[in-house]
Amino acid sequence: MGYVLLALLGIFLLLLLIAVIRTLCIKGAPAAAFTPACTESEARLCAEKLAAMVQIPSVSRREDEDLSEFYRLHEVLAEQFPLVHEKLEKTVLNGTLLYRWKGLDPEKKPILLMGHQDVVPASDEGWRVPAYSGAVIDGALYGRGAMDCKSTMLVELQAVEELLREGFTPACDVWLEYSINEETGGDGAAAAMRYLRDKGIRFAIVLDEGGAIVDEAVPGMDRPFAVIGITEKGYMDLKITAKGKGGHSSTPPRHTPAARLFAFAHEIETKRPFKKALLPEVKEMFRSMAPSFGFGMRLVMGNLWLFQPLLMALMPVVSPFGEAVMATTCCFTMMKGSDAANVIPKEPYLVANLRTSVHQNCAASLAVLQRYAKKYDLQIEVIQQRDASPVSNIHSKEYAFLTALIRREFPDIGAAPYVIMGGTDCRHFHALTENALRFAPVRVTNAQNASCHAVDENVTVASLAEGVRFLKTLLKEYDL
Ligand SMILES: [Zn+2]
Repeated sequence: MGYVLLALLGIFLLLLLIAVIRTLCIKGAPAAAFTPACTESEARLCAEKLAAMVQIPSVSRREDEDLSEFYRLHEVLAEQFPLVHEKLEKTVLNGTLLYRWKGLDPEKKPILLMGHQDVVPASDEGWRVPAYSGAVIDGALYGRGAMDCKSTMLVELQAVEELLREGFTPACDVWLEYSINEETGGDGAAAAMRYLRDKGIRFAIVLDEGGAIVDEAVPGMDRPFAVIGITEKGYMDLKITAKGKGGHSSTPPRHTPAARLFAFAHEIETKRPFKKALLPEVKEMFRSMAPSFGFGMRLVMGNLWLFQPLLMALMPVVSPFGEAVMATTCCFTMMKGSDAANVIPKEPYLVANLRTSVHQNCAASLAVLQRYAKKYDLQIEVIQQRDASPVSNIHSKEYAFLTALIRREFPDIGAAPYVIMGGTDCRHFHALTENALRFAPVRVTNAQNASCHAVDENVTVASLAEGVRFLKTLLKEYDL
C-alpha cells in the first residue's frame, strides 16, 4: 500500500515538473504601451461622423412600424459617406441596409462586414450629456449607440469610403449589412440573410460586432486582448407553474404551490445541474491567454492536459462568466403569486431565462429541468427558444488571416476566440459561411463595455480611427 502511494506521488511530482518546465517555456512577452495608430485629424473626422449618426435616435423597430428615424439615418449616412453611396450598389429591405462593393474577381467568395442601425432606448436621466448628443469629453464620444453599434458601422463605412477615395478595388466583393432590430431579436438580419442566400452567395468571412479589443478580458491579464466571438449561446424563456387548490392562508396545507416553486428554484440554483464542458475553442482561448498571466495562472491555463479538472472546478468560483462559458445557465427572473396577502395562489409561476450551451442545447437543457419539475409536481411551458449557434472554424485559413493581422497591426495585444453570452445578428449568417466572426477592431475599456445599454455609453475616438486603419489594411491585403 505504502509503495503504491509513493509511486502515485512520484508520478504526480513528475507530471508537475513537466507542467512547470512547459510553463517556463511559454513566452510572456512584456505588453507594449498603447499609442493609437492614427492622427488627430483622422480621429476628429471619425468623431464628427459618429456624432451625426448618434444624434438620430434610431430605436429598434419591427418592419411594420414607423421607420422614419431609420430613413433619416440613411440620409445622414449618404451625407457622411458620399463615395459609398455613389459607387456601391445599395438595397433597402424594410429599413435594413445592404451594400455591395464589386471586387476584381466575381468568382472569389465575398466578405460581409455587418452591424446594426438600431439602438436600445435612452432617456437623459443619469447621463453626463444628453443621451443623443454625441458630445466628446476627454477624447471619448458619448451617446446611445456610440458603441453599440454605430461605432462598428462608422469604422466599416469609413474604411470603405477612404479606400474608394484612394481608388482601391478589393480582390473580392465586399458586402455591408445593417439591420434595424438586432436589439429586439427582430427579423431584419434574417431577411437580409435569406436575400443573400437566394442569390446563392456564400461568404469567406462575416465580421460583425460582439467582440472587440478589451482592456482586461479576464481579471489579472497584463495586456488588452482581441476577443473574437466564434459562437453564441442559445436562449430560452420558460414559464414554470405550480397548480393547487388555492384557499385562505389562515389554514395552509403542506406543500403549497408557491413553496414547491421556491424549493425547485433553490435546488436548481444550488445544484447547477447542467453539464460542464470545455469546447476545444475555449481551450484555445485559455492557451492563447496563458502568456499574459503571472506564473500561477500560466501554469494552470498553459497545461490543461493536467489541470483541466482543477480549472473547471475553479472557474465558477472565480466569476459567473467562468461558469457561463462551460455550461447552460438558468436564472429566475419573474414571478407571480396571488393578488392578496391572505390568499394562497392557485397557479403561481416563475419565469426562468436560460442561456444554453452548444453541448446541452435547448431541448437537452429543458429535459434536465423537467426531471426536477416532476419531483415538485410543476409544469414547464416554453415561452421562446433558440439554440446556441454553430461554432466557427478556428482552424480555417480565414481565421488565421484575421488573427495574424490583428497581432501585426496591434502589437501590444493578444488575440483569442471566445463564446458570446448575449446575441448578435451574426448568428443568422452561420448558414452562409464557415467563418461567422464577431470582432470590431476597436479598443474598449471594461467601463465602456459596461456602458452599452446603460447610461454614459461612450467610445474612445482615437480607437475608432485606429479601427478604420485596421479594416482598410484587412480589405487591402485580403486575397485568399
Ligand atoms: Zn449590438
